[in-house]
Amino acid sequence: MIEKNIKSPMAMTLLLMVVAYVFSVVCRLWYVYWASDYSYFFWNDSLMINTNDGYAFAEGARDMLAGFHQPNDLSFWDFSLSTLTYWIVKYTSIKIETVMIYLSVAMSSLVVIPVILIGKVCGELRAGFIGALLASVANSYYNRTMAGYYDTDMLIIVVCMFILWGLIRLHYKNNISSMLIAAVFMAIHSWWYTSSFPINLAIIVMFFIYTIISDRKNLINYQTIFMMLIATTTFGFEYKIILIALMGLIYRFMDKKLAIFISSGVVAVAIFGIFGDGQFKKFISSLQFYMFRNTSDGMVMAGNLHYFNVNQTIMEAGNLISNLSLFIDRISGNVVVFAISVIGYILLCFKKRIFLITMPMVGLGMIALTSGLRFTIYAVCMMAFGFGYFMSFIAAKITSKHQIQIVIMTLAGAFALISPLMHIYDYRVSTVFNNNEVSVLDRLKSVANREDYVISWWDYGYAIRYYSDVKTLIDGGKHSGKDNFAVSYALLYPQNASAKMAALEVEYTEKSYKDKFDNNLMEILKDNNKTIGDVNNFLSILGNYDVLIPQKTRDIFYFLPFRMMEIFPVVAQFSRLDLLDGKDFSNNLFVVSSSYAQEGKQIILKFDTMPDVIFNINDGSINIGNQHYYINKFIQTAYDDKRNLHVNTYEIDPKSGLYLVFMSSYAKWILMDENMFNSTYIQLFVLENYDKNLFEPIILDPIAKVYKLKR
Ligand code: MN
Repeated sequence: MIEKNIKSPMAMTLLLMVVAYVFSVVCRLWYVYWASDYSYFFWNDSLMINTNDGYAFAEGARDMLAGFHQPNDLSFWDFSLSTLTYWIVKYTSIKIETVMIYLSVAMSSLVVIPVILIGKVCGELRAGFIGALLASVANSYYNRTMAGYYDTDMLIIVVCMFILWGLIRLHYKNNISSMLIAAVFMAIHSWWYTSSFPINLAIIVMFFIYTIISDRKNLINYQTIFMMLIATTTFGFEYKIILIALMGLIYRFMDKKLAIFISSGVVAVAIFGIFGDGQFKKFISSLQFYMFRNTSDGMVMAGNLHYFNVNQTIMEAGNLISNLSLFIDRISGNVVVFAISVIGYILLCFKKRIFLITMPMVGLGMIALTSGLRFTIYAVCMMAFGFGYFMSFIAAKITSKHQIQIVIMTLAGAFALISPLMHIYDYRVSTVFNNNEVSVLDRLKSVANREDYVISWWDYGYAIRYYSDVKTLIDGGKHSGKDNFAVSYALLYPQNASAKMAALEVEYTEKSYKDKFDNNLMEILKDNNKTIGDVNNFLSILGNYDVLIPQKTRDIFYFLPFRMMEIFPVVAQFSRLDLLDGKDFSNNLFVVSSSYAQEGKQIILKFDTMPDVIFNINDGSINIGNQHYYINKFIQTAYDDKRNLHVNTYEIDPKSGLYLVFMSSYAKWILMDENMFNSTYIQLFVLENYDKNLFEPIILDPIAKVYKLKR
């Protein structure tokens, strides 16, 4: 069996890796098995993915397979995950949808290898094995690497753990191969994940501090740092590998010469200085994104205008201090395992000081407390290893009998796995879109050209581009306040204003790629001889204003899904504000109820965010608490057997600013104010009341509607 302090045979290590890998894969297949019962999760005979961002890489891979894409279509052409997918599809003929579902399963499970290898090299193979099992399924790691979570997360932690294995191995073996492992995996990390620089730099700094404190006479440590510095730069991947290999050769054969050592150091630092600069700049801007998002009033400035900051609407960027138990569960599954893991990790760092270099990973996981739950996955592996180490340590204290130690560790491991396995069993997420939405996008693909634009909210941008092969204004990566402003305006304002904004934004967006300006609205104002001070007035009269619109270069479509209803108030925040001072124009009223009951001549509507509303059928009035209001219009919509929409309107009080719509086929009630009622989204999607001079219906499916802008 697994013997402590005895050099474990390679066969045993391999066996444990295979067992842990299979365990991790099988756990991830449960979701596929569960999802297979739902036909609306399927498209083209394949389960669809469950992460929005995945469609960006899918678009990139699709374009690489086709061999072309359009200028400025924002395709993730040549990105790491797109490239990997392209290789797999091209050389194995596995279809792209299959890769999108299973690649995360195959890749993320590889994490068991470096964790077990770390255990092996420090004489704690069984701690490594338990750590590997736990790490591979711990909640946050699972959530971000499950089947269908087609994103770069699938390899980030794996590669980081290989870097740490290289450095820990270097400590024990002091050899060139360990240096190469650390540096090459750092280069891979740098290629794979565009935001890898901070963590790479932190590992280098930590390793340097460790070297200064406890291993300062060991030249090989500095040589490894030189190699790693090169690995982090923006220098091309293949050049980095060649340089690193060259340095390895030099160190192998000319190790003793001080001049070689110094000159290689100078070269490495120089390359880092020149090609690391861009990395620093990106690092600073992402710091601003995650750390300083709460310091301002939530506005971002662009071209002297105040825009709403999208960070405030992104859940994963929210902080976890208020939800400590979620933080703990995401790292270790439950609080007992977490506590043992922390103690085990601290003990490990005391007993084997080289493990101090893993602190950046744990520290980055802790950043989740203030900067968003996406970071917890970084702490998962070392915490899991800490758990395994503590159990191994305790087992050895309790008894010297190996069989009993194994029993203790098996029980502890089984206990630790209970919470994560229960989490996996319950974690049943939906696909990004269901198949009838995708079928609308697929039909749009046959209507629209690749250069045409589709206007929709950024949440759907990547998927629209993947399924319809078109361009979009905003997506999961391009969604700053100024980018979202125009789309929000087009969805929120009346049709005449919407049509002009859509045409302006599309043509100025294309123009901006050529003329290199950065704020479309500022440019539009300038071309219309307006100043910044005119901006609010300009936007309010745009619908009837004879604005200068560049010559039409392409068609524009609106993609209006039913699912946008639930986020419509969020969409509104981006354009219903004073751009000069960032203040809201007014609180919009837009509430949707899907829970209602009829009692005699009254209908009671329940809302999540406000008290019950009682609708009196007799006179078309509503009661909210003690208040009594008349509404302007009550409208009931319904689809017939042929899926044609019928709209019945009851005019009640023309002076009222309240509107009530019952979408009977969806079982939804909407109570809203006049601005929201007149918005293009409500008029086009809910009522199909389109201005025939401005819009042409293309697809009118109850799940999503597509209109073409007449220009
Ligand atoms: Mn394209």
